[in-house]
Amino acid sequence: MEKTKKILAVETTSLTKQYKDKAAVKQLNLKVQEGEIYGFIGRNGAGKSTTLKMISGLITPTEGEIKLFGKPINDPIIRRRIGVLIESTGFYPNLTAKQNMIMKAKLMGLTDYSSVEHVLQITGLINIEKKQIKHFSMGMKQRLGIALALLGNPDLLILDEPINGLDPQGIIEMRQLLLNLNQQYGITILVSSHILDELSRLATHYGFIDNGKMIKEISASDLENSFRKSVRIEVTDGKALAAVLEQTGQPYKILAPNVIEVYNRVNISHLTADLEKYQCDVLSIQEREENLENYYVNLIGGISHE
Ligand code: ATP
Repeated sequence: MEKTKKILAVETTSLTKQYKDKAAVKQLNLKVQEGEIYGFIGRNGAGKSTTLKMISGLITPTEGEIKLFGKPINDPIIRRRIGVLIESTGFYPNLTAKQNMIMKAKLMGLTDYSSVEHVLQITGLINIEKKQIKHFSMGMKQRLGIALALLGNPDLLILDEPINGLDPQGIIEMRQLLLNLNQQYGITILVSSHILDELSRLATHYGFIDNGKMIKEISASDLENSFRKSVRIEVTDGKALAAVLEQTGQPYKILAPNVIEVYNRVNISHLTADLEKYQCDVLSIQEREENLENYYVNLIGGISHE
C-alpha cells in the first residue's frame, strides 16, 4: 500500500539572518511535520527567537526559504493558518481577558466572536470575567498569550519560550494545555525553550540550535533510544573487577579505585560468580541512564564558538 506523504507544516532551507556584524541564524534547515510538537532547543542567544520571527513573518530573512504547509509565508491563506506567541504580547492591562480577545479579533478582521468563549475555556481563562490583565499571574498571562494566538483557529502554533518565568505548577499547566491542543485539536506546535527538561514529556521531535546553526533534529523516541545506559559498580577490589570486565570484553571506565562504570548490560549473577574467584565482593550496583540535559550538554559541549 502506498504511504500517504505527510505534509511539512514548516520547512526552512538555508535560512539565514545577518545583522550588521552578527549572523544570528546561519543556513538553518528545520522541518516540522504536521501533527508534531517540535521542541526547538538552544541556550540564550542561540538564534531561536530570530528563527521563529522569520518563520512567523515578523522579520525578513537575509537568505534562504521558508515554506508553511508547502506554500510561501506571504500567501494570505497560509498566514491565517498560523498563530504566534513571540515575546510578551501587547496586552491591554486595564482590560479583561475576554475584552483583550475581542480587541485582537477585531484587529484580525474577524467578525464572528463565537470562538472567543471556547478559546478562553480551553486555555483555562474562564470564571475571571472581571479580572484585569494587570492583576494576572505570569502563568495566566502566558495562557492568555496562547489564547490570543489561537484566535482564528490556526493549524500551526509558533510559541517562543512560553514556559519562561513560570513556576512549577504553571509549567505543568502549560504542558497540559499544549498537549491538549495537539492531541485533541490536532494543532501542530513549534515551541522553543532554553531549558530542555521543560519540553521533555511534551515534544515529539526536537531541533537543537547553537550559535545560529541547527546541530541536530531527532524524534523523541530516537533520542531516548540513543541515551547511553550504564551500570556503576562498587566492589571491594577494583582490580579484580577490571580483570573480569577485560575477560568478558565489556566497555568500562574506572571512576575510583573500587568504583567502575560499565557501559553495557550487566548480568549480575554471572559477574558475582566471576568475582568470587578473586574473593571480591560487590558493595553496590547502580543503574544509570543519560538524561536529556546531559545529552544536550554532550551534543553542544564539543562545538566551538566563533
Ligand atoms: P534568547 O532566548 O536569549 O532570546 P535566542 O536563542 O532567542 O535567545 P536570538 O534572540 O534569536 O537568540 O538572538 C541570536 C543572536 O542574534 C544573539 O546574539 C542576539 O544578540 C543577536 N540579535 C538578535 N536580534 C538582533 C538585532 N536586532 N540586531 C543585532 N543582533 C541581534
